Amino acid sequence: MPNDEELNTARKLLLALKDEIETLLAESSESRQAVELDQTSVGRLSRMDAMQGQQMALAAGRQRRQDLVLIDAAMQRIEEGTYGFCLVCEEKIAPKRLSFSPAVTTCIDCAR
Ligand SMILES: [Zn+2]
Repeated sequence: MPNDEELNTARKLLLALKDEIETLLAESSESRQAVELDQTSVGRLSRMDAMQGQQMALAAGRQRRQDLVLIDAAMQRIEEGTYGFCLVCEEKIAPKRLSFSPAVTTCIDCAR
């Protein structure tokens, strides 16, 4: 089990990530609305551009929501005292790996 300092660092990282993602999600939902409002006034080509942009925004949004779920799960594991262990082999996940991506659920071996 990681020590308190490691857990505090992880908690801070996870909260910062969560904030960042929620901000991005809020911004992209605004840009989706903007596309809908513009549809009557723009030409066909730029409408296709806008729709393509919208598809990309949707895909990015889905990814971000998945990340949020992972982050929440990681914070849950911190509270439960199971944070930092691989969900597959139950070995400790390298602290370096956790500091790069604090919401990971597997060690580097199981991620391959
Ligand atoms: Zn593992």
